[in-house]
Amino acid sequence: MSIQVSFPDGAVRSFERGVSGYDVAKSISEGLARNVLLAKVNGEVWDLSRPITSDATIQFLKWEDTDGKNTFWHSSAHLMAEAVEVLFPGVKFWVGPPVERGFYYDMDLGDRKMTEEDLVALEKKMKELAASKSAFIRKEISKPDAVQYFTEKGDEYKLDLLQNLQDGEITFYTQGNFTDLCRGPHIPNTGLIKAIKLTGLAGAYWKGDEKNKMLTRVYGVTFPSQKELDEYLALLEEAKKRDHRKLGKEMGIFCFDDDVGPGLPLWMPNGAIVIEELEKLAKETEEDADYKRVVTPHIAKESLYITSGHLPYYQDSMYPPMELEGVKYYLKAMNCPHHHKIFDAEQRSYKDLPLRLAEYGTCYRYEQSGELFGLMRVRCLHMNDAHIYCTREQFADEFRAVNDMYLKYFDIFGIDKYVMRLSLHDPAKLGKKYINEPELWLETEAMVRQVLIESNIPFVEVQDEGAFYGPKIDVQIWSTIGREFTLATNQVDFAQGRRFKLSYTNASNESEVPLIIHRAPLGTHERFIGFLLEHYAGKFPVWINPRQVKILPISDKYSDYAKNVYARLRKAGIRSEVDDRSEKIGKKIREAELQRASYMMIVGEKEMEQGEVSLRRQGRGDLGSMTLEMAIERLKKEISDRKDID
Ligand SMILES: [Zn+2]
Ligand SMILES: [Zn+2]
Repeated sequence: MSIQVSFPDGAVRSFERGVSGYDVAKSISEGLARNVLLAKVNGEVWDLSRPITSDATIQFLKWEDTDGKNTFWHSSAHLMAEAVEVLFPGVKFWVGPPVERGFYYDMDLGDRKMTEEDLVALEKKMKELAASKSAFIRKEISKPDAVQYFTEKGDEYKLDLLQNLQDGEITFYTQGNFTDLCRGPHIPNTGLIKAIKLTGLAGAYWKGDEKNKMLTRVYGVTFPSQKELDEYLALLEEAKKRDHRKLGKEMGIFCFDDDVGPGLPLWMPNGAIVIEELEKLAKETEEDADYKRVVTPHIAKESLYITSGHLPYYQDSMYPPMELEGVKYYLKAMNCPHHHKIFDAEQRSYKDLPLRLAEYGTCYRYEQSGELFGLMRVRCLHMNDAHIYCTREQFADEFRAVNDMYLKYFDIFGIDKYVMRLSLHDPAKLGKKYINEPELWLETEAMVRQVLIESNIPFVEVQDEGAFYGPKIDVQIWSTIGREFTLATNQVDFAQGRRFKLSYTNASNESEVPLIIHRAPLGTHERFIGFLLEHYAGKFPVWINPRQVKILPISDKYSDYAKNVYARLRKAGIRSEVDDRSEKIGKKIREAELQRASYMMIVGEKEMEQGEVSLRRQGRGDLGSMTLEMAIERLKKEISDRKDID
């Protein structure tokens, strides 16, 4: 008996019934068989050894694939549990899922405690067990047999999990001497796990409920090669040095205060300068692109958010309402509804379109205190927002212009790795998950795709993840050390216009609903500045650096000249400070470098006599003496070009 197996490229081949994914891979090439971890059979991720018994589509997954990594890490959690059982006999296990980078397993060690030293021993034991290359063996098991197994083992946690499973859908996985209740899938064998690092130890309440017992959670990360682990550890080290919370404090960018409240950053003078520069850039760019600026209040009546649909659907993310004159008011969580009202404030004709309304809008969102994280997750945010109201005919050009703006910003900030993620609708869910406008969906999706292709922007398409009201484009960027950030979302909207009864008169004097583009290329100040701190390791380019110049007199004798230099720089619009402490010049230079000043101007006898400064560039050393005029010209050029001279 044979079955038909179809491949992603459309090819179809016959195989013996019961053939495994591994055999299919091997029939293609030995190399492929060595590198694949899993098979996606009819869209479901399977163990490579599982027999395929009917016609199927197949796709192979490797370490490079998200499902490949997650399964690799989850399988590593099984390996860790096996090692724990050797070192802590009688341990009971709860769950061991993969996380963003690695995995954890929650366990009950009874009255024993795990220490950092135990982690070292555990790591060693895992390596030993991995070397035996035990296969992960899947076994279907009846519910009574499964219950019996864990009753005998005395693991009430697994028995709890079993309660919610149906007979006939239960599987065990065994590798070496360890058997776990698990739906799988897993990688073929433990030998693929070549590099192991246990990264942390924590307490975690059973089922996340503080009324329950505290379990021990062990975190780890594994890789298919030592090289990848080394790279990962180096990245962690570098990321720690560039941690935006640490740099933000050292550089006087932002702080938090208990009395102000969690998640509400206070921007200090240096942070305010960075914000000002970003806004100046955005305003200039938007003015060039013919945007109009608006300003809207931070609160609005409940009815506005009922119209927009934020209430009740988004209520969990909003601050609770306050009541005034018998009416409920909410802090604004998004700027869109306010902008729609400005569109609606005047009679609009097709001649007024496209209308682009921009605002650095302040929004407030309720994030749970456990979710707050530095500037990355906050409760008050300033968004580089704008809404573009246009006709269907104008849409492609408008969308292209928005993309060009993103690219311009990427160039200015030296972001060379980015991907746009285009989320589409699912026709089967029109009228439920997606607004029922089949033609508009297809038309706008096609236009967006076309524009992305034409602008040479790398993008991936994802089915069934669009917003309710239109296709969505998430922009992911990578910092210089290769960490990924989701910067902003760019959305096409054909629902809000209707909800707000927005209209314009078209050329044949009929009323039409405009399309709306939501865009925020610089995201929020909070997240973007957090990103920039890591990206530049705090060493901002001159134009955006709060400390552009530090003036360092060699001794007190030159303080007056230093103050003259300061006055001249100030007049030229260059930010500077004088360090006139009676310290050795070497120390002053070191400190200025640490403060990440872009330039140092050192002044002594010769400089004073000749109207010069001795110029020093952060991280690059001495640039020699030059007239103050020349130094100012150099800085002014870097600032106005928003580009450092190499
Ligand atoms: Zn498992
Ligand atoms: Zn919006």
